[in-house]
Amino acid sequence: MTELTDLYQEVILDHNKSPRNHREPDRFNRDAIGHNPLCGDRIRLYLQIEEGRIDDVGFQGSGCAISQASASLMTEALKGMTVEEFEKLFGRFHSLVTGKTVEGSQEELGKLVVFSGVSQYPVRVKCATLPWHTLRAALNQTPKTTTE
Ligand code: ZN
Repeated sequence: MTELTDLYQEVILDHNKSPRNHREPDRFNRDAIGHNPLCGDRIRLYLQIEEGRIDDVGFQGSGCAISQASASLMTEALKGMTVEEFEKLFGRFHSLVTGKTVEGSQEELGKLVVFSGVSQYPVRVKCATLPWHTLRAALNQTPKTTTE
């Protein structure tokens, strides 16, 4: 069990050190800012939505390892997904980090399963879910054209 925890920790630290999709995409038609005052995490998310599908996603910001790694792993998982698939995955991820039974197969969470340990630290749940809530906020906003 300790080895497993170490492995998970390694993935989280790696994504914190070299976050994937840590950029402002050339093209995006939604964006949102999220803030977790409990920990000081800040994140800005950029989305390019094409016909209900997440065509591109990037983020910028700073915060603790959990929030940064969660944003990094989330953006990796979401590319190409539909908005409905995002909502489903968010539901599963939320169950995972709050220690509830994950609906369906845990395998569908893929690498996101590294956040299972977060359920033991309730104060960290907001760190792990911040990027997801921010992405949902971006999805719910009116599309706009920000780049030519
Ligand atoms: Zn945090």
